[in-house]
Amino acid sequence: MTGAAMGPGEEFDLIRSLVRGWGERAAGIGDDAAAVRVPDGMQLVATTDAAVDRVHFRRDWCSPDEIGYRATIVAVSDLAAMAANPIGLLVALTLPDDCRMVVGPLGRGIGEAAAACDTVILGGNLARGGELTLTTTALGYARAPLLRSGAREGDAVYVTGRYGGPAAAVREWSDGGQPSQDARARYVRPVARLREARWLAEHGASAAIDISDGLLADLEHLAHASAVRLEIALDGLPVIDNETVLDAARGGDEYELAITGPSDLNVAAFVAAFEVPLTRIGTVHSGPPVVEATLAGARVAPGGGWDHFS
Ligand SMILES: [Mg+2]
Repeated sequence: MTGAAMGPGEEFDLIRSLVRGWGERAAGIGDDAAAVRVPDGMQLVATTDAAVDRVHFRRDWCSPDEIGYRATIVAVSDLAAMAANPIGLLVALTLPDDCRMVVGPLGRGIGEAAAACDTVILGGNLARGGELTLTTTALGYARAPLLRSGAREGDAVYVTGRYGGPAAAVREWSDGGQPSQDARARYVRPVARLREARWLAEHGASAAIDISDGLLADLEHLAHASAVRLEIALDGLPVIDNETVLDAARGGDEYELAITGPSDLNVAAFVAAFEVPLTRIGTVHSGPPVVEATLAGARVAPGGGWDHFS
């Protein structure tokens, strides 16, 4: 995606309008590819994520700027899961013919999300296609990225944030209703926990994952990656109003973080710094790689998460 010196044509008009809307946040755009500098001693951290109409969102649920915002945060959330600092974003849009009019608000949402993550837009691509698709590549850096595989016996398991909003919103929309303000906001305006993740990494976090598939399902990913058994008590999980703990623990699209780390982590200091809950929900034990979750003393069946191909 080039901004400054492009030839004539409708495609380039669309790109020009996007780049103009992004302003200073896309000031580096103008060559065939983006050249980025990774600070000395740091590793490049890269992730890409496709948001497809009627798979990841629906145009009748969210406004175009909310779709752009959400797709961008979802991609950046994977940088947060690695405790990485963002360098910038590559944004590839596939537009059906009836979506050209929404390029402006889509771009505005993308720009607002980039601003919320204090990052820039490095480039991208615009194509015509059957389904509205936003594919966002997020680049970042970290000295020692937090991995899923770092959990060790004796660590505690913590989660950031409150759960259940996105699942409640999707359920309401699917039933033909309107979700509560709170639930809707958690779906359309997720937060990438970038600063929180870096704080946690600096304070001894050993592993992390962001909650996209559902808390219980993502904890299973972490348990397998670290080859540990996770003992989880869901009783203290912060949940939005009018949502059950079980639905909240199974619902996806949260983009909060689950981390493992020292049992004496300074939770009060975290909460004071970020005004976001940090809740201990369990303990890491040696093998086999399973999640043993309970609620009010009763065993909770595993899984329930989102699987594209099941
Ligand atoms: Mg992830």
